[in-house]
Formats: sequence, C-alpha cells, structure tokens
Amino acid sequence: MVPMHAPPHPAPLETLRFDNRFVAELPADPETANFRRQVSGACYSRVMPQVAPAPKLVAWSREAAALVDLPAEPADADGYAEVLAGNRVLDGMEPIATCYGGHQFGNWAGQLGDGRAINLGEVVNGRGERWTLQLKGAGPTPYSRTADGLAVLRSSLREFLCSEAMFHLGVPTTRALSLVLTGEQVVRDILYDGHPAPEPGAVVCRVAPSFTRFGHFELLAARRDTELLRRLLDFTIATDFPELADDNAPKDRYARWFADVSARTVDMIVHWMRVGFVHGVMNTDNMSVLGLTIDYGPYGWLEGYDPDWTPNTTDAATRRYRYGQQPAIAQWNLLRLAHAILPLVGDAEPLEAVLTDFARRYADESAAMTARKLGLERCEQERDERLFGELFAIFAKAETDMTLFFRNLARVDLDAVSVEPLREAWYDPGALTPALRERCEAWLEAYAGRVRQDGTPDDARVARMNANNPRFVLRNYLAQQAIDQAEAGDFDMIHELLDVLRRPYDEQPGKEAFAGKRPEWARHRAGCSMLSCSS
Ligand code: AMP
Ligand code: MG
Repeated sequence: MVPMHAPPHPAPLETLRFDNRFVAELPADPETANFRRQVSGACYSRVMPQVAPAPKLVAWSREAAALVDLPAEPADADGYAEVLAGNRVLDGMEPIATCYGGHQFGNWAGQLGDGRAINLGEVVNGRGERWTLQLKGAGPTPYSRTADGLAVLRSSLREFLCSEAMFHLGVPTTRALSLVLTGEQVVRDILYDGHPAPEPGAVVCRVAPSFTRFGHFELLAARRDTELLRRLLDFTIATDFPELADDNAPKDRYARWFADVSARTVDMIVHWMRVGFVHGVMNTDNMSVLGLTIDYGPYGWLEGYDPDWTPNTTDAATRRYRYGQQPAIAQWNLLRLAHAILPLVGDAEPLEAVLTDFARRYADESAAMTARKLGLERCEQERDERLFGELFAIFAKAETDMTLFFRNLARVDLDAVSVEPLREAWYDPGALTPALRERCEAWLEAYAGRVRQDGTPDDARVARMNANNPRFVLRNYLAQQAIDQAEAGDFDMIHELLDVLRRPYDEQPGKEAFAGKRPEWARHRAGCSMLSCSS
C-alpha cells in the first residue's frame, strides 16, 4: 500500500541518492566566488550553474535514465528541465568544476579545466553503481578562460545523439541523459570568419562513472604537486579501478594502472576504427582515463573511406587528428600521461614497456577486429595481412562508403561472387570501371577462399558480420538535418534518429533513408563534411 504521505506522482529526480566522493575526498579550491583564475593545490572549485530563462526538455535517453533509476519517460518534463538546465540544485548535489590541463594539438596548454561543464554529483543507483551527472553548457566557471561557459543547440544535439549512438554501437563512451533548451540565445561565429550570429542555447546532461582525464594528472605533474598527484591517482584507483586497489607496492599498482588505461584506450580506438568514427580533437584533456569516448565536438563519421580525413576545420592544415592517425595519437597521449605519473612510479622502465606494447596490442586487436568485420572466426595476422591490405587498397581506388561496403559484403554469395550487392557503396556509379570491378572480383574470390579455410558456416559468417558492421551510424548530414529542423522548432527528427540508432545492427525496414550514403549537397556543406570547434 502507498503510504498516505507519499506524493500522488512520485518525483524520481528528488529520490536520487548522492554520495559525492570526489568532493569528499579531494581538496577543494578555497575560493568560492565565480571568476576566472588559476587554481592550484585543489582538484575542483565549487560553482553554481547559471539560471536558464526558459528551460525546455527536448530529448531524453531512456537507456541513460535507467543507469540512475530514472523513468523511461520523464513524468513532469518541465520539472526535469529545471533540474537538467541547472536552475534547481537538488538536495545532495554539490556542483563543482574540476581542474585539469592538457596538450592541445601537440602543445602544452597549461590549465584548462571544466570551462563549461559542471558536475552535479555522484548518484548511487539501486544496484550500487556510481554515476556522475554533469551539465555541459550551464554557465561559466573559474576555468572558462575567455569563453562564456555556454553551449548551443547545434553542438549539444550532436553530443546528445552521438553519445547514445556510440553506446548502442558498443563503443565505450560517456552517456547523455537529456538535451534541454535554455531559452537563451548564444552568439557563435561558426566558421570563425567574422560572422557571429545568435543561436539557441542548450545544456546536455552527461553521465559517466567519472570524467577524469589524462589532463587532470598532467596539470598536477606540470606544477610539481607530487603529493596531490598521488592523492588523485590513489583516489582514481580506489573509485574507478577498484580491482587494482590491492596491497601491492604502490609503484607496481601505478604501473599496472597505466597498463590498464593503455589497454582501455586501445579498445576504444579499435572500436572507433571499426565504426568509422573520427573524434577530431584528441587533445590530452579530451582523453578519459576510463577509455571512454569523451567531449563530442567537431567529430565526424567516415563516408568515403579515407584515412587522411579529419572533420575538424581547425585541424585541416596538419590533419593531426585524421582517421588513420588516431591510434598513433592515442599512443602519444599515453606518453604524456606516462610522463605525468613518472614521479610516482620513479622508474620509467615499466611505463616504457606499456608504451612499446601499445603498438603490438593495437596491431593484434585491430587485425582481430577486421577479421570479425569480414565474418572470420580466427585471424591469422601474417597470412591475412595481404587480404586486408588489398581491401583497403581497393577502397582507395574510388570513393567507397566504408559502412555500406562492409554491411553489404555480408550479402555477397561466396559460391558465385559478384560486386552487385556492393554497388551502392561507390559514391560515383561510374567509378566501378572494368579494371576496378575485376580487382574487386579477384578480392572477393580470395575472400571466399579464406572463409572456406576458416570453416565458418555461412549463416555464422553473416551473423558475425552484421554484429560488427552497423547498418546505421550517425552520418554527418543526418545530424545536420536534425539540427536544421530543431533550430526551426521541430524536434521530431532527433527522436526518430535516436530511435533508429538504438538498433544500429538491425535492418529496420522502412528506415532505409537513414542508412543512405551522403547526398551530394552535403559534400561541402559546413556541419556535414567539415565541423568547426565553435560550439
Ligand atoms: P575542448 O577541446 O572543446 O574540449 O575544450 C578545451 C577547453 O576549452 C576546455 O577547458 C573547455 O572547458 C573549454 N571551453 C570550450 N568551450 C567553452 C565555452 N564555450 N566556455 C567556456 N569554456 C569552454
Ligand atoms: Mg574538452
């Protein structure tokens, strides 16, 4: 029976249980006024979100909600919007912005910090799991430097949809619970070409076990604050890596932690490469120690397979963060993290061993992943190198949609190979010249032979391929269409996309339009093929 004093509509947000260990166990900045500053000797600053004039909930992830025991549909959207915009701070929340540094585009940038992210608190759910809620775009913090602490609908929608799409694809990622319009206009110069214009402001509520970045450790190391560096690492191991928190000598524990971060990072990058995701800003402040994809900014999805493609206009000159360089950059970022924790380990040797092992580990996992994309049960690296290499060489011959190619490859009858099921993968129908067709057919024959040798029955091959090669990814132009419509006040496409992206490996008859390759109009349109950091 419901007790008499219970409200008629229980408000689950009010029942969230918070236990804020980051705040309880790590030192706070003693200054509590909200002005831009350098913060030393502390891991965070207390800060209140700014009040949004007219918050409106426009999207909600029921799967992210389930992580913190919230309902699949918010009962009282306006009440939720108040909390998820930061207007109302619930009992138990202790809002903070955390302090970190980072290497941006290869250069040490000093203190950065949560310039527009505010952690509300750590929820402990009914299963005893801990999830930090973080608002992005809820106003300035001591770390906002010269910027406003806000975010616009365009970039927030991209972060909301992509976080959830990545989760459903099986890629390690931070999550997004909600997308709220603030009711305020925010000025941005999208192309950095002297045309600032107002855009609708928005806040995303992100969810992750923690938001600790490589840069948190780098900043303390750069300031030679070894004592706090040790405290932060001990805290991180105790909370995020409890399986390592045994009574081994601390130096061994730290080295094992680094090996674990490296392994998780390899896993994340292999997944990015599998689905054709390009992060676009792999600065060390955008690297999670948990190996989660974090900070969705000018990211993009490979359309035509091109290892040199970067979606980020700021990266256009050097292409540091291009698709094919993501593994090498991840290793470079790990080297920065190794430098940061070296004072705690004392000896470079175990850290160097992990970094050396990175290349071998990545090569192994990447080959195993490619084998799975081809439906093979086993990978025989040396032997398969030619088969894999020739496939990527074929991709380079003419603009080929990687997602469509792999997905449709499962439809090729290996007893009578034909390129027909693959035809839609080529952007230019004329690209399939007789010479290219012949080369593809030769590859398909070699592939068919390899499948026979693998011994995988055809239904198992197809099932394995369809579980590793998505039909649906958040194609750049689809996100842009959802943005165009949302900016005109129509949010239906966000919901439709979120729904399709929930089951990216299913065929979903009727939803073919969301699997289509980039239309020509999107080839050079801003927001589709090139993204700026302005967000
Ligand atoms: P990013 O590389 O976009 O993740 O951001 C790098 C740094 O800039 C981080 O410290 C962010 O918090 C900060 N930042 C980015 N945009 C804003 C903004 N609009 N207001 C305040 N800080 C920002
Ligand atoms: Mg960032």
